[in-house]
Amino acid sequence: MAQDVLRVFFQKLSVVKWQDCCGLACEYWRGERMKRIAEGVYLLEGLRGCNTYLLVSGSSLALVDAGLGKDVDQIISQIEEAGFDPFALETIVVTHAHPDHIGGLAGLARRLHADILAHRLEAPIIEGRAQLPARTALQKAMNWLGRRNPQVVAGKLDVARRLEDGDMVDALGGLRVLHTPGHTPGCLCLLQEEKGALFCGDLLFNGNPLTGRGGLRYAPRAFSVDPDEVSRSAQSLSSLTIHALCMGHGEPLVYENGVTMEEVLKTISR
Ligand SMILES: [Zn+2]
Ligand SMILES: [Zn+2]
Repeated sequence: MAQDVLRVFFQKLSVVKWQDCCGLACEYWRGERMKRIAEGVYLLEGLRGCNTYLLVSGSSLALVDAGLGKDVDQIISQIEEAGFDPFALETIVVTHAHPDHIGGLAGLARRLHADILAHRLEAPIIEGRAQLPARTALQKAMNWLGRRNPQVVAGKLDVARRLEDGDMVDALGGLRVLHTPGHTPGCLCLLQEEKGALFCGDLLFNGNPLTGRGGLRYAPRAFSVDPDEVSRSAQSLSSLTIHALCMGHGEPLVYENGVTMEEVLKTISR
């Protein structure tokens, strides 16, 4: 019963369309389900769990986050329908180890022979050798859900590279790793500087899945190990200039003329 409730909840996390999403320069691509956010950046559509982004650079593909794990076939078919070879997927970068972001890792990494990259502090959770700290009942429930995934146990998944703040990832022409703890200890953002594309995982949400209210906001406090550190981590990004803010939940925000993160953070709903 509790498992069913959590599954419905995580399904809602990604399929709810918040009324005040940006609706700016996001456009459906080639009439397929995948949505183009910026050059080489696509949001896969209709998946359960978190947003999954496909990054295309030449013939090389990467994914940011892997979803809840129920839509591996759909992820692969969307990549194919968009005209790409799923076996060109080299890397899956994980923003953090919550079950709605790592559930699809086993299916994708194994079938497509892709490497899993994650922050050093999240790698033991992905490898099933540790658990995230849990401050709230919801976090305990998420840990419980994670343990129900038969793939996320010791010996099943390997993180090929443990990331640190400042590292570069060879995807989308180069992604800089920004360690932004608080939601979980090893949460990370990824910045493609030339394109101004920032993948912020669950540091920021567009819409609140608990209340249904729209608007940019920090991750709901009930989800985060240290909510105050979430806001400090977000503020640490203030000097960045971005054109696309790609979050783990809710519609990405596109700023055609560019905007500083300082300005973006001023729009946060409390
Ligand atoms: Zn999430
Ligand atoms: Zn999360």
